Amino acid sequence: MDERQVLVVEDDEAIGRGLAQALTTQGYSVRWAATGSDGLREATEAAPDLVLLDLGLPDLDGVEVCRRLRAVAPGTTIVMLTARDAEIDVVVGLDAGADDYVTKPFRLAELMARVRAHLRRAGPGAPTGRLTAGGLELDAGSHRMWVNGAEVDLRPREFDLLALLMAEAGQVVGRERIMAEVWDEHWFGSTKTLDMHISALRRKLLAAGDDPNRLSTIRGVGYRLETL
Ligand code: CA
Repeated sequence: MDERQVLVVEDDEAIGRGLAQALTTQGYSVRWAATGSDGLREATEAAPDLVLLDLGLPDLDGVEVCRRLRAVAPGTTIVMLTARDAEIDVVVGLDAGADDYVTKPFRLAELMARVRAHLRRAGPGAPTGRLTAGGLELDAGSHRMWVNGAEVDLRPREFDLLALLMAEAGQVVGRERIMAEVWDEHWFGSTKTLDMHISALRRKLLAAGDDPNRLSTIRGVGYRLETL
């Protein structure tokens, strides 16, 4: 039985305790840290599958914690909890390596659904085997991806997103379909998450020497991977 591990980094006692209880009820193995430094230590020891990270922590800046978490636990999914609805925090946090964010106050049921969506294993519709498009090559079995033969590190959702676009290379894939297949059919979050993931993919493709225009935005519809 492999329990998924969730680390909660939250200094507010009531919120932290409530989250820990709710996650335990869902069957996850839960650790709760009340400071950024404790959270980093727990993440290093336990390699959690997912971290719920409050951005307003007493000791360290939450964005800095996020950056360090990404370094010590590269495979973990980081969901930021932010009381500040400021656009800038969200953008800076996603840039620092967070996968998603939830704005406080949140509804517990929605947050739990979001956690489940992030922790769900690849469904039956997920691509398998090898996909190629232009100079891109992706192997779903080993979760590896290459640009012109050079391997590129992708985070789990970036990988799933690119796999879907590669499977439909040359065709527009609608936003709703992407949200349903890459995130979850009952996604409660903002679809800004999708745009941030597309931006991250463009940066990684560009850094690997690929054409950043390969990922086309079809305004109001979705995205298309050009076969070039
Ligand atoms: Ca706080």
